[in-house]
Amino acid sequence: MSVEQSKRSVTVIGLGPMGRAMAGAYLDAGYAVTVWNRTPGRAGELLARGAREAPSARAAVEANELVVLSLTDYDAVFEVLEAVEPALEGKVIANLSSDTPGRAREAARRLAEHGAAQLTGGVQVPPSGIGDPASSTFYSGPVELFQRHRAALEVLTGADYRGDDPGLAQLYYQIQMDLFWSSMVGYLHATAIAEANGITAEEFLPYLSSTAASMPGFQAFYAPRITGGDHRGDVDRLAMALAGIEHVRHTAEDSGVDGALPAVLAEAVRRGVEDGFGAASLTVLVGRFRRE
Ligand code: NDP
Repeated sequence: MSVEQSKRSVTVIGLGPMGRAMAGAYLDAGYAVTVWNRTPGRAGELLARGAREAPSARAAVEANELVVLSLTDYDAVFEVLEAVEPALEGKVIANLSSDTPGRAREAARRLAEHGAAQLTGGVQVPPSGIGDPASSTFYSGPVELFQRHRAALEVLTGADYRGDDPGLAQLYYQIQMDLFWSSMVGYLHATAIAEANGITAEEFLPYLSSTAASMPGFQAFYAPRITGGDHRGDVDRLAMALAGIEHVRHTAEDSGVDGALPAVLAEAVRRGVEDGFGAASLTVLVGRFRRE
């Protein structure tokens, strides 16, 4: 198959909400789309729009040079890859399933053993963001393959290439998710305290938004200091952070809300204070989180 042809046809394996949105975006863009899903019956609407359903995962891989995988995790990826091994030679697997950087590297190694290559992807938007060029996906893997298939990948979202290491796209994705999950759980905890005191989530919203909007300013101030190893306590002190988090914990508990979440935060800070860093900035925790 020529490069031109491969640019206009694609296989999508995995028809969860994300894979369905991806296959739909390719159909919208005029691609010939072959799909396969472990559980039959998920391709219905896509078939009506012109997609072709392969009878097996192997047949789906055989159909195109570019194969998009949108599976729950890499356990699912490895299960599918095992079934399609004989068809992998020469294939480019855009693996847009989430997991750890280590597992992304392992998958790339296994694919290379079978003559295939992986472009790892970390999609940063929900299915509703697929097909929108303003959305973004982290990619990593062989740069020449990324360049060759960039147009096809950009049918799904904008493409942010992070480097050759197949683990990098997942690494960038997971560090974003670290912030996302702690922010979301923190948001829900704060809302629980608000509701326990008769303040609705909607009443709380403008104040929440204002605090969230202040975060980029803090991050822009601290990032160069963290990079430079400068943790001087001129604008904030770890001991102050400990007292502040304890106030949150007590407010939660006084409101009948579980204080376990702020207690975990306080514990991380307290260890730093007990080790003699009470007069340093909160940013000193960056180095102390590392286990080496
Ligand atoms: P789902 O878990 O809903 O669906 C994923 C697909 O994986 C399904 O088609 C499922 O098949 C298939 N699958 C699971 N296990 C196996 C297996 N052992 N063998 C073969 N197929 C298997 O995930 P989503 O569609 O929501 O997401 C896909 C990926 O995209 C995930 O890695 C997710 O983390 C990532 N992502 C999702 C976002 C979202 O908002 N949904 C946002 C950003 C990233 P079956 O139908 O047979 O169960």
